[in-house]
Amino acid sequence: MRRENAVHMRGGVITERDPEYCTIRTRIPAGVISTGMLRGIADIADTYQAPYVHLTTRQTIEIPRIDPNRLDEISQSLGQNGTPVGSERDEVVNVIACPGIERCIFANIDSISLAREIDRRLFGKEMPVKVRISISACPNACTSPMLNEIGITGRIQPIRTPGTCTGCGTCVEYCKEEAISIKKGVSVLDPAKCVQCGTCVRSCPFNLLKSSGEHYLVSIGGRRGRHPRIGKELIVVNSPEAVVDVVEKVVQWVYRRAWSGRLLSEQLDELQFEKFREDIRSQIPASSVFDAVEMDQSR
Ligand code: SF4
Ligand code: SF4
Ligand code: SF4
Repeated sequence: MRRENAVHMRGGVITERDPEYCTIRTRIPAGVISTGMLRGIADIADTYQAPYVHLTTRQTIEIPRIDPNRLDEISQSLGQNGTPVGSERDEVVNVIACPGIERCIFANIDSISLAREIDRRLFGKEMPVKVRISISACPNACTSPMLNEIGITGRIQPIRTPGTCTGCGTCVEYCKEEAISIKKGVSVLDPAKCVQCGTCVRSCPFNLLKSSGEHYLVSIGGRRGRHPRIGKELIVVNSPEAVVDVVEKVVQWVYRRAWSGRLLSEQLDELQFEKFREDIRSQIPASSVFDAVEMDQSR
């Protein structure tokens, strides 16, 4: 077996239980590829006699049972197909995202474009720890951003604008958090219960509930696995460009400060997360930080 092979050293090449074979993990940001690329992967799998392909939890496709002596060839074929060999070790691994604004009625942001941009800038960067990045376009969090090293959640804060609330209760029905109630014939919003999903904004037949504009909660230090942990809230910003800026700064910080052998979630306290949070906030222009709006309960 050619252990010195440079392709073999890539994170997307995983030695199987039977060491005579490798699994190849591909790079597919947000899990979105064209039908042509999908056919291409099927053809490559056939060519290299893989018995099947495997759709992974990180929205990539793996091709199993590959002869390690053919890694150069298959790597070239996958690159030409636009689905190159991916990463899996202590690196920035496949960026995942939910369908987002193009298809999901709950979405607040364009999660797929954001995933592609983050992938373009950071995919495969060697790190002291594995860095998983996940984007969900609303707090329903279908891709579990809070359980990833870096999570991004698209949100909308509802603002009750002045106008004649009929007290019809439509917004109350739509809010799953019981954050809205009718008091003295008008809707009243409880900011403490609101998760900023934006559903009520779309529900009011009289357009009294307005959006504050979409914004992006960035969390860090989450993990799944045998000891799951919820990520810590780092910052809330108001544009995809600001998200990319924050994510790059986080990756740089982890690159410089973290050490190998333990997951990021286990290192955050020792890495002085609170100080880091202040540092990040001081580096992001005030115009990029989301300003929560006082909720106006006027009639
Ligand atoms: S996280 Fe929200 S926007 Fe994304 S798929 Fe789930 S429900 Fe839709
Ligand atoms: S945004 Fe609206 S629907 Fe969503 S939790 Fe807040 S009040 Fe409820
Ligand atoms: S805010 Fe709109 S949906 Fe809610 S009670 Fe008032 S009129 Fe009805």
